[in-house]
Amino acid sequence: MIIPKESKLTTEQEAELRKITGEFGIALQPIAGEHRTIYAMLGDERDELLISRLEGLDYIDRVDTIQQPFKLMAKDSELAHHKIRANGRVVGDDFLVIAGQCTIDPRNPSFFYETAHACKEAGADVLRGGVWKPRTSPHSYQGDAKAMEILVEARARTGLPVDTEVMESEHIHIALDADVDMFQVGARNALNYGLLKEIGRSIKDRRTIVLLKRSIHMGKLDEFILAAEYIAVGGNPNVVLCPRGTLPAMDGYRNHPDECITPLLKEKTWAPVVVDPSHAVGKASYVPFACLAAASYGADGICVEAHVNPKLGIGDDPKQAITPDVLAKVIRDVRAIHAMQQPHLQHLHLAKPAR
Ligand code: PEP
Ligand code: MN
Repeated sequence: MIIPKESKLTTEQEAELRKITGEFGIALQPIAGEHRTIYAMLGDERDELLISRLEGLDYIDRVDTIQQPFKLMAKDSELAHHKIRANGRVVGDDFLVIAGQCTIDPRNPSFFYETAHACKEAGADVLRGGVWKPRTSPHSYQGDAKAMEILVEARARTGLPVDTEVMESEHIHIALDADVDMFQVGARNALNYGLLKEIGRSIKDRRTIVLLKRSIHMGKLDEFILAAEYIAVGGNPNVVLCPRGTLPAMDGYRNHPDECITPLLKEKTWAPVVVDPSHAVGKASYVPFACLAAASYGADGICVEAHVNPKLGIGDDPKQAITPDVLAKVIRDVRAIHAMQQPHLQHLHLAKPAR
């Protein structure tokens, strides 16, 4: 990682950098961080001659060769100072609440508008609404691009930024055209490296945030963080990690709740952790407990399914969406827990790096 002295290099300086790294078979990728644009070296960056030639340039501050498998998402990377903003809040400084329907029903747009207003009223920061849905059965409702108009209309009516899942190139193009604020990568696609790369490239030079779910099939935490690295290496490091439960190891919950990995992630990466309690437990009556557990484990936010009338919803909503009154109470409680957690996080040396 090459860290320049100024916030941005001139075209001539960047060309000179590319020429030098090119001689060592290394490609350069600019990454727009909070304070300055830094340059990731794609290739083996350990050659001493390369480092000394780069550090000899008067416009370069230093070259960080991070030994961890991830360079951009590592807790000690230059990007540790990067701030991700959603709805005017810095994710992590404030507890981020993403709430809304699992699935937007294009035949019943009024439900989504009511849910959107109710989520805003309850204190949510971002409105979620599934336009396209990854379904286990090809015979189940797969989503409909028409729902994108409803999502965008709900944003216009409430002023809330919006989150939806993208699963293929066509979705990405439609979501970019609609300027969707947050792209969700679902649990089934978190290991789809082609998709991760495409999303990373497509949101370069935009303020888009990616909510990256943890795949059901992910093992070591590094695998999760490296999936985020695939997106960030495209040039936009606005990636938020979202544990959402792994394969169920027991009867009862839909998945095996994994909000407890939050402190472990925080020891390895600066990326905010926004837990999805809805898919972890899979039943509305368990969701408030899972929300509180996420906040207790030091999460920076939650992504929770909510619906004004769950019984009449589609997708996951009838079984796991909470109602707006429950959401309002949960939001008050998780924000209180988040405030209580700050000294504990500092005590564990897990606090955000100094700004
Ligand atoms: C969802 O958020 O509705 C969803 C399908 O989530 P996941 O990818 O975590 O299953
Ligand atoms: Mn869902």
